[in-house]
Amino acid sequence: MIKIDDHAQTDLDQLANDHYNRLIGTLLLDGVNYHSTQSLIGRIRRQRDIDAAIPDQTRVDFWDYLLDNSFTKLKQIITGRPSVLRALIKEIENKFGAAFFSINLNYNKASVTPFGEIIKTVFNYNLYRSTSACRDNCDQFRLSYCPYCNEQTTQIITLINGLTGLNEKRALLQLDHFYPQSRHPYLSVSFFNMIPGCTPCNTHLKQEKNFDILTHFNPFDKRLDDYFAFELGSVLLQSEDDVQFSYVNKSVFPNNSIVDFKIINRYVHRSHKRMIFNFFQTFKNHSSKVNRSLAAQIKGLFTTDSKKILLLDMYNVPTKRNEINDVQLGKLKRDIAIQLGVLKKI
Ligand SMILES: [Zn+2]
Repeated sequence: MIKIDDHAQTDLDQLANDHYNRLIGTLLLDGVNYHSTQSLIGRIRRQRDIDAAIPDQTRVDFWDYLLDNSFTKLKQIITGRPSVLRALIKEIENKFGAAFFSINLNYNKASVTPFGEIIKTVFNYNLYRSTSACRDNCDQFRLSYCPYCNEQTTQIITLINGLTGLNEKRALLQLDHFYPQSRHPYLSVSFFNMIPGCTPCNTHLKQEKNFDILTHFNPFDKRLDDYFAFELGSVLLQSEDDVQFSYVNKSVFPNNSIVDFKIINRYVHRSHKRMIFNFFQTFKNHSSKVNRSLAAQIKGLFTTDSKKILLLDMYNVPTKRNEINDVQLGKLKRDIAIQLGVLKKI
């Protein structure tokens, strides 16, 4: 729905750089080597030595691709925005072939090869996921709801450790690998490939689907809000059972994200329909015109901005686009307010 940059109160590219520096760690006292387990570069070098001893030159070439020129490619992989990652995928698959990393490839599923499994172990997502740095990064995004669906919460909570008395953060969210690890294990800890989302989106619906920035919205790349508007299927509603939602393209882009995340199916949850129906009724009840169509009544309803703002506030409708993620169904409510002529697109 949203672009995370709109909500974060920090420079995400700087966070990505800090993330890279933490992953590689510092040089050991000898000034040449990195720690062989704690440092990503140390782990890559160690695995390169193992593969050189087999010997397996293609594997060695892959590790050298990451390490050469002062780790240039590795740094791009860890810190690159989604468009950079896409270019790197093309380059890597041209050099080594997709089958080097992944098998059973189709749109819905893929699994890593034995070497892909080794790559996952070297990049070690689970190690990163267990760190306070991971939770701090997610906290910096300041997301209240999943950026894919805008329906489920994503939350960082602070707990007090009973033993140490210190505050600890817990991330009540999942990190979705936009470009799946099962296809691209070398993107396991890439900063802009880890989308903080909800369990239904990540575990139940996305799974190993072959997402790409040309077909799906990556919240570090584009706003769904720029390309799609939700709307009421009808503005002649007698009860909450009549509430239906659809969507229209505002600008050309595929609807795969809306389809794959089952957005419309999820938005017609009874509690959401009731909320939207009440929202709709409020407008209707303010109308003094009885002979015009309902849509026209609604459009001409409010003459002063203060009345509009009061009503929008009452229903927690985001008036600004960078407030969409602050409320559940923020985009849906905002789009319907625009559809009804109560809110101008800002
Ligand atoms: Zn979600």
